[in-house]
Amino acid sequence: MVEADGDYERLYRQHVALMKEVDRLSTLREVALTVGGSLELNEALPLIANVVQGALDLRRLTIYTLSEDQTSLRPIVAKYGDDLITADRLEEDYEPRRGTPLGRALDTRAVILEHAGEHSSAFVPLHAKNESLGVMLLEDRRDGVPFGDDDAVLFQQIAAQISVAIRNAQLYALAVTDGLTGLYVRRYFDLRMQEQLAAAVRYGRPFSMMMFDIDHFKQFNDTHGHQTGDAVLRQFAELLRKNTRGTDICCRYGGEEMAIVLPETEMEEAALLANKLCAHVRKHVFRGTEEQALHVTTSVGVASYVEDYERPEQMVEAADEALYQAKELGRNRVELAGM
Ligand code: GH3
Ligand code: MG
Ligand code: MG
Repeated sequence: MVEADGDYERLYRQHVALMKEVDRLSTLREVALTVGGSLELNEALPLIANVVQGALDLRRLTIYTLSEDQTSLRPIVAKYGDDLITADRLEEDYEPRRGTPLGRALDTRAVILEHAGEHSSAFVPLHAKNESLGVMLLEDRRDGVPFGDDDAVLFQQIAAQISVAIRNAQLYALAVTDGLTGLYVRRYFDLRMQEQLAAAVRYGRPFSMMMFDIDHFKQFNDTHGHQTGDAVLRQFAELLRKNTRGTDICCRYGGEEMAIVLPETEMEEAALLANKLCAHVRKHVFRGTEEQALHVTTSVGVASYVEDYERPEQMVEAADEALYQAKELGRNRVELAGM
């Protein structure tokens, strides 16, 4: 009898351990399926926050990444209860790296568990290929059970998957960003044009694009020097970014030519925006390397999707022709394709 009891207990313990293992693996699988899919960080992060919160049944979760200067941790996504909070709403929640459990988790690469009354927190380091990326802060399981050392192992495994996703997204962002202006590179422009054209053909969605070429920029460089020219290009790019929507795709097409892809935008609206941007550039006081006040103008060509366009290049060509017209007609102006 005693022995049978012992057998039963052993079997039962094995069963519990197995069920826990199944649980752990299915959690990991769920996370892996979610984080593997997206290359864009702002698409991936909400998915990651949702799946981790759900899989671990947490009240709160926040993901921090290391700031560029490496001195602070910046929250990039959070899930508090049912609220998903994106980076723009978390700007004030920077935490210093020094002297915080966040920093300690990052520096020691170990999970730190803290308990205070009913409150239980886990600081889980995120790192990939020996590079520290950030920290995931998990707070309070909904069932009220505090985090234990068993959990820490699972947290680290989840963190490993998330880290790979974040690292890939960061590398992708780097690969599609122009070093001088911070705008997207030409290759990314091509990709997005292709995607927009496909959506236009399939679902009849409108979209437009515009091409900018700075006027007499060769002369500008000759007068003020290439360094000052570069400074102007940076500010020009910033001007475009600031005066367009988050969904508009601002690119450096090449040299001093910038292009913007405008999803869901008809010609009329695109033309208004192009004129607004052209005027902004005209009035803007650019700063050179010696803080001198400088002025440039730009010519703009605008094209909107019509059924004649079967390939993105045709639309780019149309915008280019309009741009050429704008140059011919005296520069510092906007021309529309097909008008
Ligand atoms: P316009 O467009 O009005 O016809 O005259 P432009 O002088 O601007 O002629 P174009 O567009 O053909 O010349 C482009 C000039 O832009 C040539 C080059 O000196 C300058 N440029 C291109 N890329 C860069 C860059 O990265 N930095 C700087 N400083 N200048 C650049
Ligand atoms: Mg040019
Ligand atoms: Mg030019």
